[in-house]
Amino acid sequence: MNVQAQPERIWCNGEPFRLYLSEEQIQQRVRELAREISRDYADKVPILIGVLNGSFIFIADLMRALEIDCEVDFLKLSSYGDAKVSSGQAKIRKDIDAQLAGRHVLVVEDIVDTGLSVRYLCDLLQAHRPASLRVVTLLHKAEATRYPVQLDYVGFVIPNLFVIGYGLDYGQKGRNLRHLYVLDQ
Ligand code: 5GP
Repeated sequence: MNVQAQPERIWCNGEPFRLYLSEEQIQQRVRELAREISRDYADKVPILIGVLNGSFIFIADLMRALEIDCEVDFLKLSSYGDAKVSSGQAKIRKDIDAQLAGRHVLVVEDIVDTGLSVRYLCDLLQAHRPASLRVVTLLHKAEATRYPVQLDYVGFVIPNLFVIGYGLDYGQKGRNLRHLYVLDQ
């Protein structure tokens, strides 16, 4: 994979992918989301909870585009392993350190697919008794979502396709692609 050139078509782990959303399209939408979140939290200091690994690039861009004071912490979940479909199970791999009681918590997800991970996470975080709990996701596979989830900010609603790039991987590869690519079946 040539991550420097970032052409229209690439191969990742032996499978073909084509360009889906360009870096420019992503960055513009991230700025719009940041403006909306900055307005909604104008008088608050939210704590952003990044869901590792996939959301690390999105949260870095989103946080730098926010015009308000904010904090950050991370937790690690795993539901996909190295596969292209959800395993149907969510597991905590790394827990948060921050105290969330009474805080305005904003969960930052890369992608919501079945909704299992975000549903599991919200139940877990509610137990910390935050003052508020909202979710921002860059991507939402709305047709694939089976678990009831409230998504407060959504970057792009996408079809039920497998995507990589901008933090999202296929077998741990492809996270450093600047654009989003879709599996070309
Ligand atoms: P869910 O629990 O909503 O079914 O799945 C959420 C997680 O599955 C995401 O945080 C992400 O790690 C992974 N995932 C879902 N769809 C995709 C996809 O199209 N590409 C990649 N790389 N990961 C995905």
